[in-house]
Amino acid sequence: MDIANPSEEHLMLREMVREWTNEHVEPQAHEHDRDEKFNLELLRSMGELGLLGISAPEEYGGAGLDAVACTIVHEELSASDPGFALAYLAHSMLFVNNLAYNGTEEQKARILPKVCSGEWIGAMAMSEPDAGTDVLGLSTNAVQREDGAWVLNGRKMWITNGCIDEDGTPADVVWVYARTGQDERGRVQMSTFLVEAGMPGYSVGQKIYDKTGMRASNTAELVFDDCIVPAENLVGDVGQSLLHMMGNLELERLTLAAMALGIARRALYEMNRYATERTAFKSPIRDFGQIQRYIGESWAKYRAMRAYIYDTANNLTIGTSGQRLDSDGVKLFATTAAKEIADAAMQVMGGYGYVGEYHVERLWRDAKLLEIGGGTLESHQKNITRDLFKDAEAINR
Ligand SMILES: Cc1cc2nc3c(=O)[nH]c(=O)nc-3n(C[C@H](O)[C@H](O)[C@H](O)COP(=O)(O)OP(=O)(O)OC[C@H]3O[C@@H](n4cnc5c(N)ncnc54)[C@H](O)[C@@H]3O)c2cc1C
Repeated sequence: MDIANPSEEHLMLREMVREWTNEHVEPQAHEHDRDEKFNLELLRSMGELGLLGISAPEEYGGAGLDAVACTIVHEELSASDPGFALAYLAHSMLFVNNLAYNGTEEQKARILPKVCSGEWIGAMAMSEPDAGTDVLGLSTNAVQREDGAWVLNGRKMWITNGCIDEDGTPADVVWVYARTGQDERGRVQMSTFLVEAGMPGYSVGQKIYDKTGMRASNTAELVFDDCIVPAENLVGDVGQSLLHMMGNLELERLTLAAMALGIARRALYEMNRYATERTAFKSPIRDFGQIQRYIGESWAKYRAMRAYIYDTANNLTIGTSGQRLDSDGVKLFATTAAKEIADAAMQVMGGYGYVGEYHVERLWRDAKLLEIGGGTLESHQKNITRDLFKDAEAINR
């Protein structure tokens, strides 16, 4: 049994994405990283492959596939270009999947076909300049007017796909969390809004340059300045954001872990190849015990992350919650493992590993983001410890 390709359809999907990635993603990866440029047209073209709405229902233009399929696509793209894969994740997982599972019928019918085809590019805006891990510390707020429309004020920070080009064009549609008051127990009440390009008061504050890695994805600050959002763009009911987050976060973390797996696989492949080709002291360097330690340990880590990630993917039903222990667990383990494997690859490849042409230094830089974005390592440690307090028997199951 192959846990990473549990059916013939999954295997065919993997082969199709791998072939497409080799042909279209690989040739542009180095250049787009170096130039800090997002390949918008390449992302749009994934609509033709049916991958932009991979988990969305077919009736709205999606492919209706499962968590294993989502994992496969993120792994394959990241084995070539993690920066591009991050833009794909922000669109397809953070926006499209959120809308597909939490939006109203009207919102889904109106917006899903556009984001599944690639006509519109989506983003998700949770983080702010002064609030990241502390989600409830957000200050972006929304107030309802008498005519039912909402007025949003605030700034969102670090938003992948927040701008889609070099001219500061904002994402076509953004899934935005905003404070709408307090609940009966005095806690912050958060609500979700769909903000569309052209709505007054919605703009890009800045494209963020000079990132360590993920430079082929655009990261932006978004500004909502008395931004008018029609009543029908509130998602569900007032105060439902935590529900929306719970439904989506597990898939987000699983697919971020899948990105780490792609990075690990490529780094291991490159180091293994180099260790055969390179000779020193009249031997291939793979004959040296210290090099064998890098390769051997990387192989074992890679296989462990692959097994844990696909085990979690096979057990995750999209749109439901209840897999947090493992969605946090795979991201906690795999992201650091990927960074370590990329680091080992650079070490094995010596000076060549340190320059862009040989790929692994880019993978090493990209891997670091996965320890921060979508939940920091510390937040995963906190969640796992909390969940094991509530359910200690998870250890014995
Ligand atoms: C390239 C990139 C792309 C991103 N894309 C998006 C996006 O599309 N949408 C979006 O909403 N956000 C996005 N983010 C933001 C990302 O999710 C946040 O950076 C992340 O959640 C951490 O928040 P922070 O940066 O505010 O750090 P903070 O939350 O301020 O954390 C700083 C440090 O304190 C630690 N810390 C905080 N609280 C605790 C605690 N209770 N216990 C122990 N340690 C703690 C953290 O673990 C961390 O080490 C992106 C970030 C980057 C860099």
